[in-house]
Amino acid sequence: MFFIAEEKLHILLTRLTDDYQVCVPRKKNGKLHQTRFPDGGGDYTLDEVRSCEPAKIFFFRAREKVADGFGAGPPPPPPKPACITGVKACDLKSLEVQDYVFLTDEYTDPFYKRARDSNLIISADCTQALDTCFCMALGVNPFPEKDFDINLSKMEDGYVVETGSAKGERVVKDNEHLFSPADPSQVKTREETRKRVQSQVRININEYRIPQEGDWKGWKPIKFAYAFWNQDAKNCVECGACNTVCPTCHCFLLFDQGAGKKTSRMRVWDSCLIKDFARVAGGANPRPELWMRLRNRFEKKFDFFPKVLGINACTGCGRCIAACPAKIDIRSVLGRLAANAH
Ligand code: SF4
Ligand code: SF4
Repeated sequence: MFFIAEEKLHILLTRLTDDYQVCVPRKKNGKLHQTRFPDGGGDYTLDEVRSCEPAKIFFFRAREKVADGFGAGPPPPPPKPACITGVKACDLKSLEVQDYVFLTDEYTDPFYKRARDSNLIISADCTQALDTCFCMALGVNPFPEKDFDINLSKMEDGYVVETGSAKGERVVKDNEHLFSPADPSQVKTREETRKRVQSQVRININEYRIPQEGDWKGWKPIKFAYAFWNQDAKNCVECGACNTVCPTCHCFLLFDQGAGKKTSRMRVWDSCLIKDFARVAGGANPRPELWMRLRNRFEKKFDFFPKVLGINACTGCGRCIAACPAKIDIRSVLGRLAANAH
């Protein structure tokens, strides 16, 4: 493990702009948002908590051109891959779900693969927990343990640095004069901070009586019909915010747009809560009622993905709790699922 002082990290990020479009979390109205570096200078916050935007925005873009004209090859890649900094453990975990969807043997999405291969992930430990964080109920610790290139753990005057891939090791080696070996007291501070944040997440889990993953195992989606789901569905306004902010949601819509003889095929994020999401040609809709669509969202996350991938398609990031204008709270839905599971 290494140590990098705050001002040297700034030098490193500046150097990385030669090869990457570097993005850093910055605070706006008290919340962290991914922004471009170096615009705005050094006022970034790599520790604290997750950003409002999920990490998927760097791999599976909200709106992307996937074909330029009929018969032409795919559009060229962006000028530089992204270097994403301050990514938290919950978002790293979400990439397992995205990888399952976009990197199967059967079909590999070339845009997602290109971003996965070329982007650089500089993750960071959480140094606090939001009221809505419940990652540990989903088996995710509030500090990255894998799937990063470089991880940063905040110290008073810099960061303890751990590499997690050959790509990350190369960055450290190419800039070795910026790093020094981490001393044991810094590693001890890292462990103490990690334990403190774990305790904060545990307090959230206890306070909101959130079940542990496994407690809802075996729930039979079909068992809880209208009465179970309509409690929440009656308040849903079909805005799709829960899907948009969710790091594991991955559904998309393709459409063509054109002017004159120029045609482009676009891909945009879609939302399973919206009525027309599953509508097919001819107008048939397998989920015409809102309660069915809400059930489908939970069924996919907590029944389908455990069956096909062995993990829940939720990382406990809490973004959907914060984003939902109808105050539909996944923590209480999970509590009800667990209570009815056996
Ligand atoms: S379902 Fe909600 S808490 Fe779970 S990963 Fe998605 S946004 Fe985060
Ligand atoms: S964020 Fe809330 S109101 Fe909007 S679609 Fe999701 S559940 Fe419905």
